[in-house]
Amino acid sequence: MGIEEVTKTARTRLCIESGERSWLKNARYTARDIANDTLELKQQGYNRTEIQKEVDREDFLRNNKCAVVGKALHAWDSYKELLDWWYDQDDTNVGKPSPPATDKKGAYPPVMAHTEGYRLTYNDETERVEFRVSPKPYKKVNGHLRGRPDDLSLIEKALTEEEWSLGQAELLYRDGVYYLHVTVKTEVKVPEPEDADTLIGVDINERNIALTALTRETMDTLGTLVLDYGSVKAERQRYHTITKRCQEHGQHSIHHQLGEKEERYTEWILHRLSRVVVEFAQQFSNPVIVFEDLSGIRDAIKYGTYMNRRLHKLPFHKFEQQVRYKATWNQIPCETVESPYNSKACSCCGHRGYRQGRRFCCTNDSCDVQQDHADRNASVNVAWRAWAKHAGIDVESVNYRTRKTQPFVRKVSLSGSGRSVNRPTSSREIASRGVLTT
Ligand SMILES: [Zn+2]
Repeated sequence: MGIEEVTKTARTRLCIESGERSWLKNARYTARDIANDTLELKQQGYNRTEIQKEVDREDFLRNNKCAVVGKALHAWDSYKELLDWWYDQDDTNVGKPSPPATDKKGAYPPVMAHTEGYRLTYNDETERVEFRVSPKPYKKVNGHLRGRPDDLSLIEKALTEEEWSLGQAELLYRDGVYYLHVTVKTEVKVPEPEDADTLIGVDINERNIALTALTRETMDTLGTLVLDYGSVKAERQRYHTITKRCQEHGQHSIHHQLGEKEERYTEWILHRLSRVVVEFAQQFSNPVIVFEDLSGIRDAIKYGTYMNRRLHKLPFHKFEQQVRYKATWNQIPCETVESPYNSKACSCCGHRGYRQGRRFCCTNDSCDVQQDHADRNASVNVAWRAWAKHAGIDVESVNYRTRKTQPFVRKVSLSGSGRSVNRPTSSREIASRGVLTT
């Protein structure tokens, strides 16, 4: 068993009972200044400690300042990661990521640690969560929180149950209302990957996510599912074209909105896809979700355009992070295996084969598999590598991988617009289609 910390964000609204709203407003502006200064200093090569010293402000809690600097540096790291991705990929339609804004457009809210910059308490009499926010030294704003029952009960849990605790909170402002987004933390016990009974191999490419569940004991296939999100790409392309056109005409505000729309859309897709993966895994006993190590491949060998395409059409890294996050909440372990030539090996006999469109063709005459769905084939190889790793078996020495009879592939399209008639209603329902009934 491994113990992992997991977080959730509770979104609430402030009902201010005492203190000045102008203090909060000033704190917002100061936080933005600090974040912008942080980013500028970072670009000039300053390190974290130097930045902390440089951006010190008398009108702002030191503790809050540290949190704001931390968040700005995190945004910078994400930007650098995105930039690396951009330099690596070969799709010229994807715009170059821009660094976090260091002017008035930069949206960096005050970030506060619990009991320092803010404090929440549960009032038994009123049955409300009360807050104290310290936007400046010696200035306190008090009141209670409002919000959806789910969000409030998360906070109550963090305040009353020992296994739960409160992390940082962010103070946001929109249309005259102040919001407090509170991070709630707990620890989850996750089984070790090698103790799992079912191996879920995940293969990702620009069109599909293929999943295969194998039982560790016999390597029989328990389920297989291919999620097609080809329509997503088209939708992203559409937003991108409109965005570009607006840019050319200098309509920057529309451009900004569309950019956000595309981003939200991608987020939504990633959320949905990752949910299906976890729900697929949950249908089997003691599962482990296995990814192939894409970064390793990229660094080790300079692959041709095929590999690049595989890597970069969707933010795969983000997808993997989301799956891991959701899996951890559900006490499902994840692991990564190195898998060169994954898509080129036959998942049945291990022979090198070739790809013909979406088909994988095995070149071994004595192999029963003449062809298979290429992405499903790759996902079996990913699961198989996890099996070999824990069985202490040299991958190159053993060829037999799984059952010779390949099950029928269930393919589900993930609709882009969300209005398609045949769209399955829930991710659970999609996931359940991939289970084989024998
Ligand atoms: Zn074969």
